[in-house]
Amino acid sequence: MSAIRHIPPPADVVPPADRRVVEGILARLQRPGGLDDFTTQVRAVRGCRRPVRLAGRVTASGPSGIPEVRFDTRRLSDGVLLKACGSRRETVCPPCASLYRGDAFALVAAGLRGGKGVPETIGDHPAVLLTLTAPSFGAVHRRRPDGTCHSTSTRCEHGRALVCGHRHPESDPALGQALCPDCYDYEGAVLFNAGVSELWRRTTIYAVRALGSLLGLSSRQASRQLRLSYVKVVEFQKRGSVHLHALVRADRWEDEHGAAPAGIDPDLLATALQMAARRVSAPVPGSTTGARHVWGTQIDTTFVADAENGRARAAAYLAKYATKGTDEFGLLDHRLPSGICRDVRLPEHLRMLVGTTWSLGEDESLAGIGLQRWSHTCGFRGHFLTKSRRWSTTFGELRSERQRWRLKQKGVTEEPATEGMVTTSEWSFEGSGYVTAGDACLARSVEEQLRVGRVLERESVPRLPSGAPVELGVL
Ligand SMILES: [Zn+2]
Ligand SMILES: [Zn+2]
Ligand SMILES: [Zn+2]
Repeated sequence: MSAIRHIPPPADVVPPADRRVVEGILARLQRPGGLDDFTTQVRAVRGCRRPVRLAGRVTASGPSGIPEVRFDTRRLSDGVLLKACGSRRETVCPPCASLYRGDAFALVAAGLRGGKGVPETIGDHPAVLLTLTAPSFGAVHRRRPDGTCHSTSTRCEHGRALVCGHRHPESDPALGQALCPDCYDYEGAVLFNAGVSELWRRTTIYAVRALGSLLGLSSRQASRQLRLSYVKVVEFQKRGSVHLHALVRADRWEDEHGAAPAGIDPDLLATALQMAARRVSAPVPGSTTGARHVWGTQIDTTFVADAENGRARAAAYLAKYATKGTDEFGLLDHRLPSGICRDVRLPEHLRMLVGTTWSLGEDESLAGIGLQRWSHTCGFRGHFLTKSRRWSTTFGELRSERQRWRLKQKGVTEEPATEGMVTTSEWSFEGSGYVTAGDACLARSVEEQLRVGRVLERESVPRLPSGAPVELGVL
């Protein structure tokens, strides 16, 4: 037998995935514009993980009728313009979600402390952080304040003892799972999620009336003198039911950003919200028996004052929920074409809720609400963050403000519109995400540089020169 060991050629030493990355990076270095043009584009989309690739051009033609090309993606790296995906979900694109969370914070905080076009005197308006929960649809594994789950035993009709002596740690995947899946009211849970926005809408109407009655006003007088402005976020519980967290501010009708309404303090506002949340009900979607939804018994109201930066903390608390989705892995971030998620990481309980939503969607009495489009959110239809019209500013306005600021930083002034000038844009969608594993890897290193840059900026550490390589180990 030969003593010489077989040494495989170097190419085989590198695992195929790594080899694709290396090949992709080498290909990038050899392309026109090389690494510099590519990283410039990735920086422009703030390190977005799934940017949209657009090809096209912008032309302008004046009175002479001769078109003049103002912008053409053929002059850019790869002939495409990258546009950030703009996702709000942390599990889809962390850089875009981080930007969204910043905007959500600015939007929420402006309604509590002023700024972004809202006068600072808004800080005199009483404000309350309200948390509304879903009722119980059956026993689930949980962490009570004393750490226990279900210490006392009852036996269900399926012969199961509804008892659990564990003290579940916070990361325990068992949390939120039904003790007896046969007992759990999956349909009730889905329909609650489907009807929660209507229940909230009614709660806001009831709360104005309740506030009026505490002030000795009739319902009619209250609705013509007072307004409750709000911003609310939806939080998915591990059991797949939604909770609402809302900041509610008392305003004067049609003068929301003016002086604070007379005679209302946070205590009175909290009392009115509690009264409304305990009394309100809304029809269960599709019910033929007159069944109605109510909130769970756990209703929480916390005063939001500016002492110890309380208003900023309340805004940060709400913004934190704005980038979360239905499940922690992001398996339910997108619509499910067949109502099935095959990923084994999805807990059985959530899988049951998704399946129940899909099958309820086939029910004729629920045809009007299109439940199958919402199986990935277990029946919850709508946006995770919503606000009343006069809370503060809008996401659109925050984005335009940022765009104006960036142009100003670059020294670009908006061109005055020339009379008779017609601008035409033609765009085609070339795909989304990065084309090679090498590009994706390079984009992640740009993302990391930008992230570290932001941390340094926040901590007021002298900035590294732009584009300088960042050694994470040193920080
Ligand atoms: Zn993105
Ligand atoms: Zn348990
Ligand atoms: Zn049972």
